[in-house]
Amino acid sequence: MNYLDNCATTKPDPEVLNTFNTVNTKYFFNPSSPHGKGLEANKLLESARDQIKSLLGLTHQSVIFTSGATESNNLVITGMARSKKPFGKTIITSKLEHPSVLETVRALEDEGFNIKYVQFNEDATLDLAHFKSILDQDVIMVCLMHVNNVMGAILPIKEIHDIIQEYPKIHFHVDCVQSFGKLPIDAKMMDSFVLSGHKFNGLKGQGILVFDQLVTITHTLFGGGQEYGFRSGTVNVASDVSLAKAMRIALNEQEDSIKRMNQYKKTIESKVSQYPGVRVNSVKDGAPHVVNISFVGVKGEVIVNSFSKHGIMISTTSACSSKRAKLNETLTALHVPEDAITGSVRISFDKYTTDAHIEAFIKAFELIYEEMKELLKR
Ligand code: PMP
Repeated sequence: MNYLDNCATTKPDPEVLNTFNTVNTKYFFNPSSPHGKGLEANKLLESARDQIKSLLGLTHQSVIFTSGATESNNLVITGMARSKKPFGKTIITSKLEHPSVLETVRALEDEGFNIKYVQFNEDATLDLAHFKSILDQDVIMVCLMHVNNVMGAILPIKEIHDIIQEYPKIHFHVDCVQSFGKLPIDAKMMDSFVLSGHKFNGLKGQGILVFDQLVTITHTLFGGGQEYGFRSGTVNVASDVSLAKAMRIALNEQEDSIKRMNQYKKTIESKVSQYPGVRVNSVKDGAPHVVNISFVGVKGEVIVNSFSKHGIMISTTSACSSKRAKLNETLTALHVPEDAITGSVRISFDKYTTDAHIEAFIKAFELIYEEMKELLKR
């Protein structure tokens, strides 16, 4: 099997699994328990938190352990919007965001918030002039992603940060799910950001929310008051310790894996662009691990099934939204033509992607192209 759907999820690193099992076996105790074993578990938990702070170069920010980016995005966006409501009601985001951001801000619309979407230029870069034009004194939050999970577009986090300095009440929240381990992340540029462990060879159900401790978020989850009161529920120490491990490994291996992924991206894009009717959609100078192409005129699902029959696992637009019938919002916002959107597929890499995976992909591509070429719009 050739797995090339690493934006959806990655294979856990055996060292991470090993850490998870060891901590669960030896330190299964509740870290909130007052006895000696509870204290030992709590020490482990806090040392994982400290490791993560040091890996991310955090100074004053706090790390909250969650079940992943969906929960983290919901917690911070809803909590921040509600706490800032007396000061303004406008939230700026983009149509490129993951549903855990888009659906959260849409739900906030029902509470009276006003949502504005920043636009993108023809070359898929964020339109900074449009961004400036929609900023005003009512804006309380800007929610954007660092790297898009469908097209690999990289958003200009530093430029956005610099622009909003004139508006001190704006909270700048960034979804760094697809950038951690693939691009450097500068924590100083953001008021809060989120990560999900399974996107960088950690485990599903583990993530973090990083936020500036000076800022207050209205609580949305009530219970025992764990994780500074923001995320009640018995803490999963084994998960949190193994997340710190996954982060350390990802950062150690980042340089080497970026080089290889960039090479794979170039190989696939230059190969398939030679075939009439096949369009490379992925953004120029985008993230190293995301390739997006279209078989123009054929449905993406058909292409994914054909590759699957050849033992190659790729995706249509994004695993989280592929069950929805509507046209992909990311591709639409990035000006991809409609017939290319319906025929688009995503190929995505991680550190375990090898030359052999890419060779197998190209071999299957040639066979599938032969079968489909009469159907393609050129
Ligand atoms: N943001 C982005 C950019 C993502 O790609 C994903 C996962 N597809 C998420 C958020 C949500 O992560 P999770 O499903 O782990 O909560």
